[in-house]
Amino acid sequence: MKRILLVEDNAANRKLIGDHLRRAGYEVREVESADLGIALAISERFDLVVMDVQLPGTDGLTATRLLRASPVTRTLPVLAVTAHAMRGDEERILAAGCNGYAAKPIAYKEFLALVSQLLGASGVNETRGDS
Ligand code: MN
Repeated sequence: MKRILLVEDNAANRKLIGDHLRRAGYEVREVESADLGIALAISERFDLVVMDVQLPGTDGLTATRLLRASPVTRTLPVLAVTAHAMRGDEERILAAGCNGYAAKPIAYKEFLALVSQLLGASGVNETRGDS
């Protein structure tokens, strides 16, 4: 089963996103801060991180840059979710190292398609790494 790390500070959003991912068949680990998320991403194996951009303390884009800087999580796919999808945000999010993003309120059909797409890409790499 694919494991997803969900970093979201808002408890209601965290449960909603987590429930959608679990119903889609994923194992989900939920944390409320970037610092907890970074520590977990480095100490455990995940296939994807769903990263809220607006977090208190270390924000989601700073967290993604930190993940990209670590050899352990350098290639771990990160899907950003943001409440402020404005002009220039896509460039900012992708420049931080995120592999894609979804705007809140989340359209779950498109969101889950993007999750599946990013997991598929990582699966190819895993297969290559194992052989
Ligand atoms: Mn937030």
